Amino acid sequence: MSASTVEFAVQMSGAGCAEKVKQSLANAGTVNIDIPTGRVVVNSNLPWIEIQEKIEKSGRRAVLSGFGEKSAVAIVSDTVDKVKGVVRFSSVTGDQYVNGCVVDGVLDGLTPGFHGIHIHECGDISNGCKSLGNHYNPRNTRHGSPHNDIDARHAGDLGNIEADEIGRAKFRFTDKVITVGDIIGRSIVVTEHADDFGLGNDENSLIDGNSGKRLACGIIARSAGIFQNFKKICACDGVTIWDERDKPVAGGNRSNL
Ligand SMILES: [Zn+2]
Repeated sequence: MSASTVEFAVQMSGAGCAEKVKQSLANAGTVNIDIPTGRVVVNSNLPWIEIQEKIEKSGRRAVLSGFGEKSAVAIVSDTVDKVKGVVRFSSVTGDQYVNGCVVDGVLDGLTPGFHGIHIHECGDISNGCKSLGNHYNPRNTRHGSPHNDIDARHAGDLGNIEADEIGRAKFRFTDKVITVGDIIGRSIVVTEHADDFGLGNDENSLIDGNSGKRLACGIIARSAGIFQNFKKICACDGVTIWDERDKPVAGGNRSNL
């Protein structure tokens, strides 16, 4: 698992406050706090939502302001406002640069259990999730597991995520095939059923893993990396990022987030 760097804007005042934030992130990874700007940068293997939860348990509010060096984000939703969430992507970098991408997200409103998650070839939602095309498949290969060799999976095959008993799926994994540059402008889809990875002994299994209906989807867009987002006020609607924080990120019952 590759660590990624996540930057949060945190409401802080003074060094004592920063110390409490630092304590809240014990064992989370490498933590750097800049008190004057309220910037907290964490290099971690944890899902971003869990880092945010840890900071907020210290009594301060936190807003994610940068993710990875080269990153992208998809706001995932459906037409009936049931399944909603955010999936972030960040390029894998390190001592040995490899192709690959950290996929880190939270989705609410799912039925408990496993659901397929795939990158689709288009970013066209003119007909909802139906107009997004097939699984992203630049090599014209069969459907499969993300752990298969590159010739025995679609590039877009990211496998399954698991929703807990309240219907929330929190996930973070590294995929070795997709890159952030490849997937910007495409889309991500979560499906009704689990993906059988092409092992279902029928034709459809080799197309989409019998993963069923497309429940919710989102277009993948470029997002701010670390130290690229200096806004304190959201230009789109004039509310501060702290007011924005009170709006649910995903789902109608996220006030406890
Ligand atoms: Zn596929």
